[in-house]
Amino acid sequence: MTIILDGKKLREKILTNLKAELDKLEVKPSLAVILAGDNPASKIYVNNKKKIAEQIGINSTVIKLDENVTEDELIQKIHSLNIDPNVNAILVQLPLPAHISKERILGMIDPKKDVDGLSPYNFGKLFSGAKPYVYPCTPKGVLLLLDEYNIELEGKHVVVVGRSNLVGKPIAQMMLDRNATVTVCHSRTKNLAEITKTADILVSAVGENIIEEKMLKSGCVVVDVGIFKDSTGRTRGDVDFENVSKIASYITPVPGGVGPMTIASLMLNTVELFNSTIRR
Ligand code: NAP
Repeated sequence: MTIILDGKKLREKILTNLKAELDKLEVKPSLAVILAGDNPASKIYVNNKKKIAEQIGINSTVIKLDENVTEDELIQKIHSLNIDPNVNAILVQLPLPAHISKERILGMIDPKKDVDGLSPYNFGKLFSGAKPYVYPCTPKGVLLLLDEYNIELEGKHVVVVGRSNLVGKPIAQMMLDRNATVTVCHSRTKNLAEITKTADILVSAVGENIIEEKMLKSGCVVVDVGIFKDSTGRTRGDVDFENVSKIASYITPVPGGVGPMTIASLMLNTVELFNSTIRR
């Protein structure tokens, strides 16, 4: 029988625990989110993050900047948040408008406030085997979900499809750190299905519905990070859930799998950064 990896349920458990922890505090953690531009999906994500942060007792501010904001203006804003003692965590919502260098902007966030763990300092720490201030939210959420269901990683063959800095690369590194054997695939990978067929655990982070039942072995664990709207407006993941769920041992739904875990990780990271400020 296939078990659904229920990210919504685990998110609720994590948020309930965090709220209980934060209810005891007089000074609350604070999260500042910068939203540059008019990306409709980003607006929804940011509003959702703010709503959930406030529900559990995190002060949350959204700084909305125009689509035409310059890199220098954005950097100025980040600087002011870096030096603001009342801000513990800074998130720059991606994607940024096309004229802005994501790498340059992420490099401007104080690593001690970099709640997404994507600044060069934290990213470098992750890849050098040292502990970053926090781990990137989506990969962290995936590992929390697998751990919740006691899915062992050590010695397993994990195939990650997608090599972005946001998901594919950090997830592969974090799986390696947990002693999995990791293969990373991407758009130029030849014979993708031959590789995915050898996966004990498949993590797909592509943004297209490409993973079919025939590409997987029976009993594998399937984690679908992808989320997008198809031509009919329906929310879809990378995986053909209906058919793959017939052969997988565990599988994440879309929505309700990895997405809620990304939010839970963001809240955990905000509180971790806040707690480390107190310790400093
Ligand atoms: P991205 O930066 O566009 O990266 C997509 C990756 O998929 C790239 O590495 C690309 O290869 C690879 N790819 C594209 N077509 C492929 C194909 N036919 N076969 C194999 N690999 C292919 O996207 P991302 O930011 O990593 O996000 C991926 C998906 O996850 C999106 O749907 C996004 O919305 C979703 N996402 C979800 C969450 C969540 O919380 N659920 C969080 C973040 C992202 P190349 O490198 O060769 O181009």
